[in-house]
Amino acid sequence: MANEINSSNFIRNIIIEDLEKGNVKEVITRFPPEPNGYLHIGHAKSICLNFQLAEEFKGKTNLRFDDTNPVKEDTEYVQSIKQDVEWLGFKWSNLLFASNYFDTMYEKAVLLIKKEKAYVCDLTPEEMKEYRGTLTSPGKDSPYRNRSVEENLDLFERMKNGEFKDGEKVLRAKIDMASPNINMRDPVIYRIAHTTHHNTGDKWCIYPMYDFAHPIEDAIEGVTHSICTLEFADHRPFYDWIIQECETESVPRQYEFARLNITNTVMSKRKLKLLVDEGIVDGWDDPRMPTIAGLRRKGYTPESIRNFCQAIGVAKAASVVDEQMLEYFIREDLNPKALRAMAVIDPLKVVITNYPEGQTEMLEIENNPQDESAGTRQVAFSREIYVEREDFMEIPAKKYFRLFPGNEVRLKGAYFIKCNEVIKDENGNVIELHCTYDPETKSGSGFTGRKVKGTIHWVDVNSAIPAEFRLYEPLILDDIEENEGKHFLEQINPNSLTVLKGFIEPSVKGAAIGEKYQLFRHGYFNVDPKDTTEDNLVFNRIVSLKSSFKIG
Ligand code: ATP
Ligand code: MG
Repeated sequence: MANEINSSNFIRNIIIEDLEKGNVKEVITRFPPEPNGYLHIGHAKSICLNFQLAEEFKGKTNLRFDDTNPVKEDTEYVQSIKQDVEWLGFKWSNLLFASNYFDTMYEKAVLLIKKEKAYVCDLTPEEMKEYRGTLTSPGKDSPYRNRSVEENLDLFERMKNGEFKDGEKVLRAKIDMASPNINMRDPVIYRIAHTTHHNTGDKWCIYPMYDFAHPIEDAIEGVTHSICTLEFADHRPFYDWIIQECETESVPRQYEFARLNITNTVMSKRKLKLLVDEGIVDGWDDPRMPTIAGLRRKGYTPESIRNFCQAIGVAKAASVVDEQMLEYFIREDLNPKALRAMAVIDPLKVVITNYPEGQTEMLEIENNPQDESAGTRQVAFSREIYVEREDFMEIPAKKYFRLFPGNEVRLKGAYFIKCNEVIKDENGNVIELHCTYDPETKSGSGFTGRKVKGTIHWVDVNSAIPAEFRLYEPLILDDIEENEGKHFLEQINPNSLTVLKGFIEPSVKGAAIGEKYQLFRHGYFNVDPKDTTEDNLVFNRIVSLKSSFKIG
């Protein structure tokens, strides 16, 4: 199914044509993150696209850090990005850093100056903005535009040598201040920043701008198809200009596709960093974050993310994907493989008054009703059990078939029990139920005497293990990707995290970190890798069991 949806990948068609026509011999792509934050699910789309295209045509993909802006970059991000790409299941051909090309970039800038295609400009940022013109009116030439080659070479070298302060001068491409495309109006290609770089240290105090650096990086690596998101379409003429004027040996081409947006999700490292810095989440790997690290900690598998990325396809038109689609793919992935267990996340004690005191019996419960080969497990049952608080109503609502005074329900894999007495504390809160069981109704005994309408789950008080359950709702209340800073922080869902203390059946004892379970009626859960300790098992709910969402 996923392959059918994906058949419209237009970049793939371009590659096929390029190979057929002999335009390229080997497909070389790259994933070029800026190490200024953790990767998010949007990046996963780009990763899958770049790696899978190269893989399909027996080409290569580089992981290249686009580290040309030292102010926001950090080695912590470099490490996390490497980990995430590997975890998603991809192997890069080369691990590269744009900052390793700073010498070449500097040489190319000098070449442009010598060709009278670049000049040092002293306009302030405000002036430059004014000179740039608007979408409807042309810009005007900088008074520094006609400096001689010698003067430009001298000034640029002195910029490099640290003789000027940040912002005092820039190097600009000399193209056309009247171009209808603002990106072609003498864009800045080098700026001064007296900042230590995570890779090159203090070697440089001038840094290339993204639009200048990127095509050179691609050319150095022999990248054939440089895939980026739609907002760079207007930058493509400049990309091609750089490739031509810098006289690079190899000629990469840029192709744009629509970035992934998901409902109720912010998808920009800047915003995600704000959530971390403001302490709204527990770090970049908080399970509510759309980061790869957050999804992993929540319990998403690499397969589910890859399948999701394949299904959403690659288009030229921007769109917003329903977050339920992501959930669909983790359910699909986990249903056949997750271990089954029962857990009570909001416990209410039930005493089965006619069950012999001190007796425990082992019941055999199937692991996966849809997969006989998954086998069965033994679950202890005795006189005291916990049931879910919401599986009891003193005064039942309409169509409520679970426990209420006088009603009988089936305990999953055990017996029918009937509620006889409700025990309350001095404040009138229900603290315990007294029920009786019918030994004839044992599960698997073939009992057909009468039917009950409700089946509920339970755990045995004596043997159950205490555990913490974390339930999540979307972090963002509305789709506000368009809104700026303040507004988006005002849309934080106050109920995005619910922590419950409950009990889980003993079969999960010693559960490994990252182990996934389907907890009966509650959904799929992951053993939290960060907060689980020997005496505190923490389960993150990945997704509930059912959704009305349909795909295909
Ligand atoms: P952000 O705004 O989240 O920081 P970015 O584009 O600045 O995103 P980069 O690290 O520069 O982040 O991106 C690396 C690659 O991932 C780029 O090729 C970029 O086009 C791609 N990418 C980033 N966000 C998305 C997205 N939402 N959907 C698809 N691809 C994306
Ligand atoms: Mg960026």
